[in-house]
Amino acid sequence: MTAAAPEAFSFQAEISQLLHILSHSLYQNREIALRELVSNASDALNKLRHIQLTHQQYRDDTPLAITLIPDKEARTLTIQDNGIGLTRDELIQNLGTIAHSGSKEFLTKLADNPQGDLSLIGQFGVGFYSAFMLADKVEVITRSYLDDSGWTWESDGSGRFTIEAAGADVPRGAQIRLHMKSDLEEFLEPHRLKGIIRRYSTFVPFPVQLEGEQLNSQSPIWVEPKSQISAEQYEGFYQWLSHRSTEKPLWHLHLAADSPLQFQSILYCPATNMELLGFGRVEHGIHLCAKRILVQPDNNDLLPEYLHFLYGIVDSADLPLNVSRETLQDHQVIPKLKKVLTKKVLDHLGSLAEEQPEQYRTFIEQFGSILRTGVSSDWENREKIAGLLRFHSTYGDDRAATLSLDDYIKRAAEGQTQIYYLTGLQRDALANHPRLAAFRKRNLEVLLLDDPIDEYALAQLGDYKEKKLVSIDSADVNFPESTEPTDETLLPPPKDLPRVIELFRGALGDKVTEVKETSKLTDAPCTLTNADGGYSRLLQTVIRQQMKEFPQSKPVFEINPQAALIRRLAELSVNPSNDDFIRDCGRQLFANAQLLDGLNPEPHDTATRMQQFMEALAQTKTAIIV
Ligand code: ADP
Repeated sequence: MTAAAPEAFSFQAEISQLLHILSHSLYQNREIALRELVSNASDALNKLRHIQLTHQQYRDDTPLAITLIPDKEARTLTIQDNGIGLTRDELIQNLGTIAHSGSKEFLTKLADNPQGDLSLIGQFGVGFYSAFMLADKVEVITRSYLDDSGWTWESDGSGRFTIEAAGADVPRGAQIRLHMKSDLEEFLEPHRLKGIIRRYSTFVPFPVQLEGEQLNSQSPIWVEPKSQISAEQYEGFYQWLSHRSTEKPLWHLHLAADSPLQFQSILYCPATNMELLGFGRVEHGIHLCAKRILVQPDNNDLLPEYLHFLYGIVDSADLPLNVSRETLQDHQVIPKLKKVLTKKVLDHLGSLAEEQPEQYRTFIEQFGSILRTGVSSDWENREKIAGLLRFHSTYGDDRAATLSLDDYIKRAAEGQTQIYYLTGLQRDALANHPRLAAFRKRNLEVLLLDDPIDEYALAQLGDYKEKKLVSIDSADVNFPESTEPTDETLLPPPKDLPRVIELFRGALGDKVTEVKETSKLTDAPCTLTNADGGYSRLLQTVIRQQMKEFPQSKPVFEINPQAALIRRLAELSVNPSNDDFIRDCGRQLFANAQLLDGLNPEPHDTATRMQQFMEALAQTKTAIIV
């Protein structure tokens, strides 16, 4: 073979940007780069082991291992593995472009805040590039298990990399050779390297060697009895699984079962939800092992979507070692495991809520919005999940307080058959909503949902422990008899109210199904209700933004004959020259009611009318100081 010249390639733009940030970062915690490279080596070994189990022709006797080779003279550190290696195409593809969509969002965040937490890098599928935090030049010398000869990939972290044929002597696997930056000589010191590996890579399931010594314990802690495992071990294992080097998990659940399924598992809940911090979705699954051997990293079929944020490992003796990704999907053990794990997690959350309310509150703050999607997606567990959710309500003075549906039922009035809720977009507006008056008068608690998705979850549920969930703008609302207010002194309705109703009807036309008087308000002049029942009109609007054909129900416009404004309009209605003014008041009251419901009234008409009202009022003011 004639030696061809190195071929040059450009990195995908996002990678160039990342490399620029990494190589110029003042980031202190450069150790995590080694963790990422060792982790990649471990993945490559794991893939090879799997191929060897399923394809006889790739088997050999060499033990699979990762070796660190510091060379002070050449100022290089090499991380070598004898895993699957990379073909030429894979070098171009995997070390030149970004595969995961979440990674791009991570990069955008990083570009906004270059000194931000680079230790997150491994979670976002771009861990390899952290090599440039340590090195000003990186070489990857590799031979794929599919090839007879190898390749060298090389880059100095600017926008380009080269690939060159490296001949048949290259051993199978990959050597990542870091040409260390001048101020980072410490990373060539064996004692420093040992410290780092022991800190970050102790759970790597293959031997990590340096100067003939094995540095990691490879201990599969999930098969040990709980009593044998220290808090530090649990934490360390979490950090290894999640690539979160400093975070302690919020909680963990260590499970072992013998029948009907035999499995061991440790599941972890992170302390923070990256998605709430504006990062994209962190794509990770659960590591699936068969008899301690990892058969599939990041399996997404072991937990339902609404628990996708959990990290963990599941080891089942009921799975064959040589199962392939494809047959795994159809393997009957997986859905069974999923069912058991889901139940265990939900039960654990239930006890956490009772026994450690503070921790549970953090859990809900971080992951409540993901958990609630389970109410509509997991039919079997929907009531259990609903019981785990927390809501704000009209009860008490503590605005931050939350309650569960069970708390609500405990406090419900005698004979109350419904759980009431009000949906809006802002907590403050919700708590002051005029429609709550009728409930306050009767001492009935109302859930305040400041996210229409909460309503969606509850509406899917329909009822909880035999109490129907109803939006308080719905015609379905009924009040328990025991709560009828007794001490109410109501004024008789003004005699000209029918004329006001007639004028409002004329002004609003087909925007409403009906205009009628109500006794459900105290001071407020009007409100809108939903004659059809079902979703609140706010939720209908939100759904319509996604699904244009979704029908929007027309409201009933209810007016309060006790309100001073309505009574005055009734008096004015005897004089036909006030008709236009009363119609305009009707239109404006309708717009106000929409605003209070979180809906947008027609902006131009509303603003023009308000301006006319102000102009008229301004005319009545005097400009003389008396
Ligand atoms: P991730 O490992 O999360 O996919 P990385 O940026 O760390 O992201 O690595 C990119 C890809 O490069 C890997 O998915 C893998 O295909 C390949 N790769 C990295 N290191 C090795 C290695 N030591 N052996 C074989 N392939 C590797």
